[in-house]
Amino acid sequence: MSYSNSIKSLIDIQDLNITFDEDCVKQGTFKGKACKYITGTLTYNPTHCVKCGIENKNFTVFKNGTQLSRITLPLTGVSPTYLLLRKQRFMCTECNTSFTAKTPIVERNCYISKNVKVQVMIKSAEAQSLKSIAKDCSISPTTVQRVINEVAVHLKPHHTKLPKHLSFDEFKYAKGAMAFEYINVLNGDILDILNRRDNFAIKIISL
Ligand SMILES: [Zn+2]
Repeated sequence: MSYSNSIKSLIDIQDLNITFDEDCVKQGTFKGKACKYITGTLTYNPTHCVKCGIENKNFTVFKNGTQLSRITLPLTGVSPTYLLLRKQRFMCTECNTSFTAKTPIVERNCYISKNVKVQVMIKSAEAQSLKSIAKDCSISPTTVQRVINEVAVHLKPHHTKLPKHLSFDEFKYAKGAMAFEYINVLNGDILDILNRRDNFAIKIISL
């Protein structure tokens, strides 16, 4: 396996357009804490201009400098690890605008890798505190909460029909506030937990 592919395998990056040179791993500090920086390059030949859509023939779109992004990766060993990604910039001669190379390892305008987001979700399912997840994933507790909220939107259940046999329960979850949960009796699956137990929440929010 080449050096570049070994690094990619180590940090779980599959994007073929990202490469690593030898000596790409450096020790450093971030916000006063020791960390590792791994420098990589993202480049490719775009088939079209992403702004005007013109096909890239005879250098209609040409490479024009790079832009450096710092992306938080999962820990390697015991150190917070950051990918310093040199992203290719492109210039389109047709519409005279520039754009930056994209990679599936990170969402647009986001500076933590998708692998970190997955790690947050796995840890949150283990009922770890925000602070503890933040520490393990080298991000702030606010970012942990944001990732959980983002994913929760997609996971929100929309039951078109309820099972034949339901069981209900309510429990206290914060200073006197009561939550309402409903369960499929046959298989024990929790269908949802609502942060309210009034008629409105049960009839409207749960469906
Ligand atoms: Zn263009």
